[in-house]
Amino acid sequence: MHTTQRLALHGGSPVRRRMLPYGHQQIDAADEAAVLAALRSEWLTTGPRVAEFERCFAETVGAREAVAVSSGTAALHAALHVLDLAPADEVIVAAMTFVASANAAAYVGARPVPADVDPATLLLDPAAVRRRLTRRTRAIVAVDYAGQPCDYAALGALAAEQGIPLVADAAHALGAAWCGRPVGSLARLTVFSFHPVKHITTGEGGMICTDDPRLAARLRQFRNHGIARDHRERETAGTWYYEMTELGFNYRLSDLQCALGLSQLRRLAAGVRRRQEIAAAYDAAFAGLAPVMPLARRAESSHAFHLYVVRLQLDLLRARRAELYGALRAEGIGVNVHYLPFHLHPYHRTRFGTAPGDCPAAEAAYEQILSLPIYPAMSDADVADVVTAVQKVVEEYAR
Ligand SMILES: *Cc1c(COP(=O)(O)O)cnc(C)c1O
Repeated sequence: MHTTQRLALHGGSPVRRRMLPYGHQQIDAADEAAVLAALRSEWLTTGPRVAEFERCFAETVGAREAVAVSSGTAALHAALHVLDLAPADEVIVAAMTFVASANAAAYVGARPVPADVDPATLLLDPAAVRRRLTRRTRAIVAVDYAGQPCDYAALGALAAEQGIPLVADAAHALGAAWCGRPVGSLARLTVFSFHPVKHITTGEGGMICTDDPRLAARLRQFRNHGIARDHRERETAGTWYYEMTELGFNYRLSDLQCALGLSQLRRLAAGVRRRQEIAAAYDAAFAGLAPVMPLARRAESSHAFHLYVVRLQLDLLRARRAELYGALRAEGIGVNVHYLPFHLHPYHRTRFGTAPGDCPAAEAAYEQILSLPIYPAMSDADVADVVTAVQKVVEEYAR
């Protein structure tokens, strides 16, 4: 490859005119029909599609119970609520994650404590978790970063040894598997998101999976104001009477959304396969491009590739990540950065006293990571555009 092509950033013509986003939903005619049928049905919310979506979802991820809620963030809040944490209790959270994973601990009055990640995979490092254990540690929140399952063997053993629950934030990992077992049944509670960039969407939405029916019952109550019976159950029982037994929220997912979720779930496996195919194409294209290093993969896992993250080898480049980000955006490639480690956000620093240096591996990775577009609706030509743009930009800045 030779670079006579001027970068779009420097006035050259871009690889694409229309920006390719890093993630995007896929909506088909079956989805539209399913939502329309729900819209014309008796129940717009608290109806039969909610239980049906929960049943199909639980079966898909191999969990006994699935509880649908209004977002992945609500799912995290509900999961930590049912653990009955007390003020000043500590929850160890993977540093490299979206802020919602850590905020959930703050919602229930606990302290989110960042733990560092493995620099090769950016998955929660069990040794780092051990270093963060105190007398007040009450839970561990692991994140299947980018769609790769974390080390459930080591983290599960550590949680069991400490007698505390492991909560999996699997917002990236629907459709992933670890040692042949689907993500969703590997932790006490597993949380998913149905935001449009995730594997399936309901517009907004989330799910909590567990094998414990008592936890599931409390989760259902929590999403409905803390009330024991929902509207339809009262209707069926022929009574107006209900009791609120604890403080909950309206975190319900509507029947319109569950209809969409059910329809989307049928295409989950195909979507994950397409993501894996795109990831393999990127792997092959970047194998000979030293400054672009994809994250390491764990052999025991099947990766769901919510994100395709590369680590830029900045010592081989004459620019920092911000400039490469700008150059790729100018070429029409909607690259992104996932994430600024949560403990570096001003709220967490002020409220919980976290600081740079707390998680050196996550902080070093943050300076180098870039997420490339990956989603099932991408065409082979879209994938080729990403590869062309990355090669063009990297060759321009190569030392
Ligand atoms: C998307 C996401 C969430 C939050 O989900 P929402 O449905 O957007 O509330 C939580 N954790 C991680 C890791 C996510 O990627």
